[in-house]
Amino acid sequence: MTPAKLVRPEIQALSAYHVADADGMVKLDAMENPYPLPAALRRELAEVLARVELNRYPDPSGKKLRELLARKMDVPPGMELLLGNGSDDLIQIVSLALARPGAAAMYPAPTFVMYSLNAVFTGMKGIGVPLRPDFSLDAGAFIERMRVEKPALVFIAYPNNPTGVLYPEQEVVEIIKACPGLVVVDEAYHVFARKTFMPRLAEFPNLVVVRTVSKLGLAGIRLGYLAGRPEWIRELNKVRQAYNVNVLTQAAALFVLERLEVLEEQAARIRADRALLGEAIAALPGTRVFPSEANFFLVRVRDAEATYEALRRQGVLVRNLHPGLDNCLRINVGTPDENRILLTALREALR
Ligand code: PMP
Repeated sequence: MTPAKLVRPEIQALSAYHVADADGMVKLDAMENPYPLPAALRRELAEVLARVELNRYPDPSGKKLRELLARKMDVPPGMELLLGNGSDDLIQIVSLALARPGAAAMYPAPTFVMYSLNAVFTGMKGIGVPLRPDFSLDAGAFIERMRVEKPALVFIAYPNNPTGVLYPEQEVVEIIKACPGLVVVDEAYHVFARKTFMPRLAEFPNLVVVRTVSKLGLAGIRLGYLAGRPEWIRELNKVRQAYNVNVLTQAAALFVLERLEVLEEQAARIRADRALLGEAIAALPGTRVFPSEANFFLVRVRDAEATYEALRRQGVLVRNLHPGLDNCLRINVGTPDENRILLTALREALR
């Protein structure tokens, strides 16, 4: 018996999530926060982690961490939290829970690849509704399509990855109101956009908000959270692996998020540098920079393959989205030094 005979054909047709080798590179491909924690905090954290009991299973529901997140992230009273091993885990949990036979998951496209991947994993029909050519949302077209497909699940990345575009709040509200299923507003980049549906959770019975600490500066610990009504959390919690957030992650997050202002200050620097970097890239010949409310830019160039390779040769790693997104690269906002290196390399690459 071979994998070719036994593995579901739709899984065989996929390729595993590819992460480029970044050894020794200026790493601007993964939307990370480029700043480490301050040295004094790292030393304190090391002591905290040394006391963690690795021989014990984690608190399965992460009660202390949920309480801290609810306080720090302004989760409205009456709403509850579910923790995930990154928000990838939460996207999977929601998909698993809603994947009735024949159910559809819908999302504006292009968008974060995990929405469609999880539709495949869970046997849902995955439906990407095209954005306009400038990557703005056509809410009318989306709502029309919802009337036909009646999705059980809608994902809206707010702002969107890989475009960086933040859709108008009112258009998202119209989609939530017209949606016959659950709407997941994915706010992975909320610290950079500073727009959120969190305070509006109580208004819509079919809305949950998903967040991550990854872009905030803790991508390595893998922690996401989903906020919503207790009746949603109760059901979704049944699908969650019992110990999905490990002891080291819980301890590190409790320590660092108690000092959230450190990460928020780094995010503010990234937002300020974003404006400068966007203008500088746009001033280079043959580039089109799409407006971004995230910590990266989608940039169209004349030849994405050639530009990507020329950047690589100069030690700068970005994300090549060609041919999916015609001649587009996705470039992270880095530290001021990294941004300077990028601009020099990009100027050279575009010659
Ligand atoms: N949602 C969006 C829109 C993203 O861009 C990403 C990361 N690329 C994620 C979720 C997943 O983040 P994580 O699993 O690190 O929490």
